[in-house]
Amino acid sequence: MKSFVYDYGTEDWTKWIKSQGHPTFRSKQIMEWLYSKRVTSFDEMTNLPKTLREELARYFEFETLETITTQTSQDGTVKFLFGLHDKNAIETVIMRHQYGISVCVTTQVGCRIGCTFCASTLGGLKRNLTTGEIVAQVVKAQQHLDQTGERVKSVVIMGSGEPFENYDATIQFVRIINEENGLNIGQRHITVSTSGVVPNIYRFADEDWQVRLAISLHAPNQDLRSRLMPINRRFPLKDLLTACWYYLQKTGRRLTFEYALIGEKNDQDEQAHELGKLLSGMNCLVNLIPVNFVPERNFVRTPKKQIFAFQRILESYHVSTTIRREQGHDIDAACGQLRAKQQGLLEK
Ligand code: SF4
Repeated sequence: MKSFVYDYGTEDWTKWIKSQGHPTFRSKQIMEWLYSKRVTSFDEMTNLPKTLREELARYFEFETLETITTQTSQDGTVKFLFGLHDKNAIETVIMRHQYGISVCVTTQVGCRIGCTFCASTLGGLKRNLTTGEIVAQVVKAQQHLDQTGERVKSVVIMGSGEPFENYDATIQFVRIINEENGLNIGQRHITVSTSGVVPNIYRFADEDWQVRLAISLHAPNQDLRSRLMPINRRFPLKDLLTACWYYLQKTGRRLTFEYALIGEKNDQDEQAHELGKLLSGMNCLVNLIPVNFVPERNFVRTPKKQIFAFQRILESYHVSTTIRREQGHDIDAACGQLRAKQQGLLEK
């Protein structure tokens, strides 16, 4: 089976180029064609000898993702549904913020983690994505933005799937998009989000880089978190927090906790107090996310007044907070919703 062109960074290309008997400077040229000029075929790589282009075509696949649908929201959010070579589908989202444009990528087809508020997990896990399939999502998003002369500033690995269950591909993905010869996205502009796969939080803390980490927390105690996120039975909250403290001490970087507010489940004053006590003294930011509606789950939204009350209580414990601005409200914005619809996992 052929590899995908986006599976490789400069080092891998250099190895391959050498093995084919070509001068090593060709690897830099290939990277430039792929990531700076963002061509879509080997024929366009006009400064490469024809023999090399033919060899590339023999060993590598170019078309990694096929665009099935593109939904554009009034607020500029763009959601892609991409088809993969094995007929699976994944989602990628472009979001616009005051500080620039970010892309949210997917690392697995489906997800086995089973968070009760999430549409991505409805059909379970199908498979891990390859590095190239993750990289191609950012390239496709950038190609879309090229039409208006805009640029991807940051990348969040928060789409469908648990990146720490596809650790090696995720790490290689980060390295490729961060490369100067690649998309050159700064490490501090890349965030990986995990539901709490504890052993890989330690691994991630030990990586020699500035990439940011976010933890999906969603509950202030063991019992409620286990009900909302079954992974909490595998990796209890106590162990998760110990890993978080290790991360903070090892890296000196601030940690983000994602907290989806679900009406009357985890959004009450007493839960805000419990959370405030739990995180007090930590170098962290709590990102409060009014939960997106998933028809199958029947969750109610937290009223605005309660969102602000929750925030005020956290701040009384000197815990920094933000409230995530809702984006793409007029499209299938919730993670996994578009794919689930397309694959018949949700009712229309
Ligand atoms: S929230 Fe993330 S980890 Fe949880 S089920 Fe959804 S995709 Fe998986």
